[in-house]
Amino acid sequence: MRFKPTLDDIQTYEAGKPVELLVRQYGIKPDNIIKLASNENPYGTSPAVLKSLTDTIDKVSIYPDDSAYELKSAIASHFDMQNEHIIIGAGSDQIIEFVVNSICDKNSHILMAKTTFAMYEIYGRLAGAVILKTPSHQHNLKEFADIIKRQKIDLLFLCLPNNPLGECLDADDLYAFLDSVDKNTLVVIDGAYQEYARYKDPAKAIDPKHITTRYSNTIYLGTFSKAYGLGGLRVGYGISNSDTIATLHKLRPPFNITTLSLKGAIEAIADQQFVSETVAKNFSQMTRYEQFASKKGLRYITSYTNFIFIYMDNSSKELCEKLLKKGIIVRDMTSYGLNAIRITIGTKEQNDKVLEVLDMFC
Ligand SMILES: *Cc1c(COP(=O)(O)O)cnc(C)c1O
Repeated sequence: MRFKPTLDDIQTYEAGKPVELLVRQYGIKPDNIIKLASNENPYGTSPAVLKSLTDTIDKVSIYPDDSAYELKSAIASHFDMQNEHIIIGAGSDQIIEFVVNSICDKNSHILMAKTTFAMYEIYGRLAGAVILKTPSHQHNLKEFADIIKRQKIDLLFLCLPNNPLGECLDADDLYAFLDSVDKNTLVVIDGAYQEYARYKDPAKAIDPKHITTRYSNTIYLGTFSKAYGLGGLRVGYGISNSDTIATLHKLRPPFNITTLSLKGAIEAIADQQFVSETVAKNFSQMTRYEQFASKKGLRYITSYTNFIFIYMDNSSKELCEKLLKKGIIVRDMTSYGLNAIRITIGTKEQNDKVLEVLDMFC
């Protein structure tokens, strides 16, 4: 079969290895597997969410509310905005797809940091666009500014905080940068980990209302997959001015969010207590990994997320294979050209085990 030539250069996105794989490959019992590879919430989700899912289960024969009115209202009120400023996606991944397809064709240029969320590049290449990256792995606004001076950019991605590295720009630096960006360049601010960043350092907090009102060429993305603990339900959202949101809705397939997902997300956003507890526990556990790395003389990146990126002296690929045999799944960064691992911060009990095993292997 002859497929589109643009597909030749695209690598299939490699998700964190599923528990089922270790069960099959190494015969490890599911209960003995610790999965810290996909930045899921190790504390599960709000009990109110679980109850609402059980209460909704008899509605599955009916199509969901395609307008997602209730969920949009809940998100709008959380951010002090209106429903017309919001679009819901099957994960914020799907909003990235809408954004790319609303802007890009083979004449378009997309700019991003050298090491950032892989889906920006994948959707960009699918659309045939030219992908440009800054020289530095981490976000460096001076480098972004130098490139936009030389080259017209149609779409620019900023991941704040950045997955997989964990660093985050200050909001004030972001605003100063946005002042210099052409108003015809759409800037995506991916806030998948903003709940974490704003807790650790208020200077990193980006207010979607402020940013999308002040800069009409921005769109803010949020997700229920991380701090809210709903990775399995696939719900994300985009926030922008009403014109941009109305345009993106043209790309949205009908009923892209399931009835259960809508219900779960509405309950999740109502339970901010769960989010605060999650985030506080995350950072208190993260210090254990920082101390471990320091003790071993390993470099790590200060993280504003629910994971930590640690450079390795010996092969990170071999380390990850050894960890797998012990039932521990973390993310190897070899495919990004970095000899490092990314570990999602687990519960105290998970981290006890992971740190004990890492101590043997590092
Ligand atoms: C997890 C993640 C997302 C989106 O996840 P969904 O599950 O599709 O909502 C988007 N951007 C970044 C940087 C992420 O880490």
